[in-house]
Order: sequence, then C-alpha cells, then structure tokens
Amino acid sequence: MAEDYYSPLEREIRRLIAVAGPMPVADYMRLCLTHPQYGYYVTRAAIGAGGDFITAPEVSQMFGELVGLWVAAAWQEMGAPDNVRLVELGPGRGTMMLDVLRAAKAAKKFYAAIVLHLVEVSPKLQELQRQRFAGLDVPMWWHPSLAEVPDGPVIIVANEFIDALPVHQAIKQADGWHERVVAVADDGALVMRPAQDVLPNFAATLPRELRDAPEASIYEWRSDTVAFDIGRRVRNDGAALIIDYGHARQGLGETLQAVVGHSFADPLQAPGEADLTAHVDFATLAISADIIGARSHGPVSQRDFLMGLGIDKRAAALKAARPDKSAEIDAALARLTGTGPNEMGGLFKVLAIADPKIGPLPALQPTVQERQ
Ligand code: SAH
Repeated sequence: MAEDYYSPLEREIRRLIAVAGPMPVADYMRLCLTHPQYGYYVTRAAIGAGGDFITAPEVSQMFGELVGLWVAAAWQEMGAPDNVRLVELGPGRGTMMLDVLRAAKAAKKFYAAIVLHLVEVSPKLQELQRQRFAGLDVPMWWHPSLAEVPDGPVIIVANEFIDALPVHQAIKQADGWHERVVAVADDGALVMRPAQDVLPNFAATLPRELRDAPEASIYEWRSDTVAFDIGRRVRNDGAALIIDYGHARQGLGETLQAVVGHSFADPLQAPGEADLTAHVDFATLAISADIIGARSHGPVSQRDFLMGLGIDKRAAALKAARPDKSAEIDAALARLTGTGPNEMGGLFKVLAIADPKIGPLPALQPTVQERQ
C-alpha cells in the first residue's frame, strides 16, 4: 500500500511502532483522540446532530437544567461559599453549561458566587465555547487540565468525559495476562494482539471474582489518575458529578468502540477520524475516590437520577408552555430516561464524589457499605 494512502496520524502511529515496537491500546487511543496536531478532538467539533454523536445535553435543555439544580443544591450543602469554582471537564459545544447557568440564575446568591473553569483539550471546541459563552455575566477561564484550576471550594461536572480517556486492555492467555497492543501485521495492516511478555502479577490486581477468568477474556482499565485527581480536588470543600455510559460493577469484556457519523466503525480504521470511547467502570472510580479520602455517592442510573430531580415535572411544564413541541419533548424524555438499548436512561450512570463532610446529595444514594 502506498505510504501516502495513510492519514498523517496513521503515518505517525506506524512510525512510532517501527521505532519503539507495538504500542498499548491506551497509547493508540490517546494519540487518536488528543494528538496535538491530528487528534480527533483537536481537529474537529464533532458533537451534535451534524457531528459524529449526540450527547444528553444536545438531546434536550432539560438535562443541563436539572444538572444546574443539582449543582445549586450541592453548593448549599457545602455551606453556600461566597466564591465557588464551577468546573466542567470536556464541555464539548458548551450546551450543558449554558443550561446549567440558566437554571442556576434563579438562585441569585449561588449565581453570584460562580467563577467558571472549563477544562478543554480541543482548541476548536474551546473557540466554540468562547463564542457561545460570550454573553454570560460570570468570570470564566479555560485550562488544558484539572490540575490548573486554582484551589478553593469547587463543584466539578463531567458528562461523557471519562469515556474519552484512554483505556488499557489485557487479554488472558495460557501463561497469564498480556497487555493488548497495536502492531503492524505481516500483511501491513494495523492489528491488535497480545504483547509478547506476560504482565507480572496482573491477576492479583483484579477484583477477586475476575481472577479465574477463562482464556481469551479481556479486561479493560483506566489509569487511576483521573479519579484520584477529582477525589483530591473535592475531598476538602468540593463535589463532583460524573455522568457517563458504563457499568456499575467491575467486569470482563471489550467495550472500546469507534463511531463515525452516528455509526460504529473499526477502531483501527482511519485513526484520528473516528470518536473512540470505552465504558466507564464506575465501581473502580468510586473505590479510587474513597481511597483518596473523598466519599462517593451512587452510582445510580441516569433514569433514577433525572427522575429523582423531577424531569417528568420539568417536561410537563415545558409542554404546557409549548404545546406545539409536545411530541419532541416526550421523545427527548424517553431518550434520556428510557432503559431500552437505544436509550440513555439505563446505560448511563451518575456518580458523585464529594467532601465526606457534605451530603446527602440530591438523587444519589451512598453505596459505600454495599460495595464492601
Ligand atoms: N460534555 C460534552 C462533550 C463530550 S465529548 C457533551 O456532553 O456534549 C468529550 C469532551 O471532552 C470534548 O469536549 C473533548 O474535547 C474533551 N476532551 C477529551 N479528552 C480530553 C482530555 N484529555 N482533556 C481535556 N478535555 C478532553
């Protein structure tokens, strides 16, 4: 195949493999999404009906409005500090934050306390967010990572952010677990295969019930850093709300997927041109947050969370104001709270991580004891 057939990112990935050998799936995913020149999020603003995928805030304003109510309640629980950093990780098109702030405006003291901090890796999306937030009367700052957000009382929100962070995969073989790597096969194609060396003592790091997994099982994990970073930030005077698709219990299986133009694609095809995501392991997130000294609440299903915050009443009020939009509002309500395979209510989960001194938090049940 001619060299110039490959996209610039694929050429770079092939060059790195030629120089350093096959790369872990997580490194491949990181390059595909956030390579500083050719990464998927760096080169495009692909969210929404016209993009590659639709997220809950893009389905309906109700989603962000209810998150806004939750955030205002969390602020009350924190003792209503005069100054609070409202942080969003991966704001995308900024739609959720616009809805959050519109809802928050009703709580005047809270609104006045907000300083907005947006954590966004994509220059394109950052530019779009700047345009869409231009009329807002709250101070706002952008950062490439959470580490740059200044200390002090903080509320963090993240919708479909963690699913975009790189996952590692290990595959069980006769002689033990091997990390899965991306390599170039004899015929020149990019392939995933087990790394040559076994991962030493890997089984011991797995949840007990997964240690005797059958051969060919795949286990995915993310580095703990993000849960630790969030936990460390919120354990004194803070709360974080994490919404994403994933599982409430640790399990086996491959969930890495590629999506282009609302359809599934092969993750190894056209690197940098597809959105790559993998399920979020909420059990591990919650445990990591607890280990670092924060307290986790949930996870609950997105359906239970939104119902707990009164989405059905909000939908009824919107329909009363706009009877002509009734069908649209009902469809959005079903998409956000339904538990069918193409609906978000069951697949998506909601987890809060907070200062152990605060709580209870609306629409979430602490499950710390349940996990023990
Ligand atoms: N929250 C939005 C967008 C979800 S897409 C919504 O619900 O519609 C994921 C978002 O996270 C995008 O804004 C993307 O640019 C950003 N992102 C992905 N990886 C990131 C990283 N490592 N650091 C900061 N932002 C990241």
